[in-house]
Amino acid sequence: MTTTLRWGLLGASTIAREWMIDAIRSTGGDVVSVMSSDQDRAAAYAEANRIPHPTTDLDALLGEVDAVYVSTTNELHHDQVLRSARAGKHVLCEKPLALTVGEARDMVDACRAAGVVLGTNHHLRNAGTHRAMREAIAAGRIGRPLFARVFHAVYLPPHLQGWRLTSPGAGAGVVLDITVHDADTLRFVLADDPVEVTALTQSAGLSQGDVEDGAIGAIRFRSGVLAQFHDAFTTAHARTGFEVHGTDGSLIGTDCMTQRAIGDVLLRTASGEELLPIDRSNLYERSVARFTAAVAGDGEPAATGEDGIWSLAVAAAALESARTSRVVAIDPVQSTTKVSQ
Ligand code: NDP
Repeated sequence: MTTTLRWGLLGASTIAREWMIDAIRSTGGDVVSVMSSDQDRAAAYAEANRIPHPTTDLDALLGEVDAVYVSTTNELHHDQVLRSARAGKHVLCEKPLALTVGEARDMVDACRAAGVVLGTNHHLRNAGTHRAMREAIAAGRIGRPLFARVFHAVYLPPHLQGWRLTSPGAGAGVVLDITVHDADTLRFVLADDPVEVTALTQSAGLSQGDVEDGAIGAIRFRSGVLAQFHDAFTTAHARTGFEVHGTDGSLIGTDCMTQRAIGDVLLRTASGEELLPIDRSNLYERSVARFTAAVAGDGEPAATGEDGIWSLAVAAAALESARTSRVVAIDPVQSTTKVSQ
């Protein structure tokens, strides 16, 4: 099979414009069509991004592509992925995969039944910083991991201050936006699965209504590792980071919870400190390259559909914990909790 994929974009989105169109083109992919709910926006977006076929018709788009990149608002992912899979198209879908774990499970099942590849665009697994931490842990360089700390409190850029802050129906809130990434990165770096979570959320005034714009929580993993996370849309001056502390050493990642290929990882042990060598490949290009290879029969996407279910299951459980003030089991199989409520 050729690795030159013809891609359709579902959603005239910011993330596609800022990162993914270039990433697709950098891997030799052709962006042939973009679908918007509005014909004028589709046309303007297509012209600005040199995409030949703007459309509002999903079936028309599906008729001319091999793969779709889904970056509409979150409540639309489920139906669009099911329709794409049934049309035999490979799917790279944004996180969160859906608004419930049950819907995300449908999406994975539909893609499996159709024999198409499903990837979740958890870009942070593709960061050289996180890959270096995963390798260092697997090589035993910090002994047995005991704790992890994720610092992912940022300021939501003004051009993104829309549905994320106002629209529960679209899957608004910092937990669905950012905690899902923390959960996926923790699973990836620790090579472990989470079992339960406790969380508190905050609405500090940037978001509206019941939508949370900050969250703090703790996750217990199967191995016993405890991980804390701090996520926000409201903090303009905090740095991001990702740390893992083990019996024989600590990994201190700084400025690494970001879209750009930046950040450093310090390994501190009894022998002293060293900065780990970091691959500076573009995160989104690596995501598309891994997806493209998977379509060609070579390996899996960097984050699979199952990985997307897991990260959503953590987010759903964190929101339930915040609502109920209880520790909530993380259940990637049975959970039907509607996370946007
Ligand atoms: P946007 O708000 O930019 O786009 C989402 C939808 O909003 C678009 O599909 C579009 O609808 C509509 N829209 C966009 N711009 C306008 C406008 N100017 N006027 C009217 N409607 C507009 O969302 P993002 O790109 O930030 O996020 C999209 C998805 O990607 C989400 O699922 C999000 O979670 C995910 N994401 C993932 C990231 C990652 O690094 N993995 C980073 C950022 C987002 P239509 O298509 O109908 O025109």
